[in-house]
Amino acid sequence: MTTTATAGTTWATDWPTNVLTRYVNLGGAHVDLITRRFTTRYTWQGRPYVGDEAREVDGFVWECRGCDTRGGYGYDREPYLPSERGEATAAANDHASACRAIPRPTR
Ligand SMILES: [Zn+2]
Repeated sequence: MTTTATAGTTWATDWPTNVLTRYVNLGGAHVDLITRRFTTRYTWQGRPYVGDEAREVDGFVWECRGCDTRGGYGYDREPYLPSERGEATAAANDHASACRAIPRPTR
């Protein structure tokens, strides 16, 4: 009797350095929680506190390699602030729990 690998699951041969956490959706595609450097006027206290000057921070986004959705905070999907890693993690995991897109073929 032969055993086959999990059908449709594509394991990356490398793990990009900016990927913090990787989830697998229902179709076998990766949903990656990624660090993202961006400029914001939110203070170190986070939302809704806005300062006068913009500052550069290392926040988070998530990307689904199946349906090509990029997740971020709110309607505009701006990157999550450094203090919002928990929200970013929960959103990435929630997407992976519901998304059925299969991985795109690699060439
Ligand atoms: Zn997806």
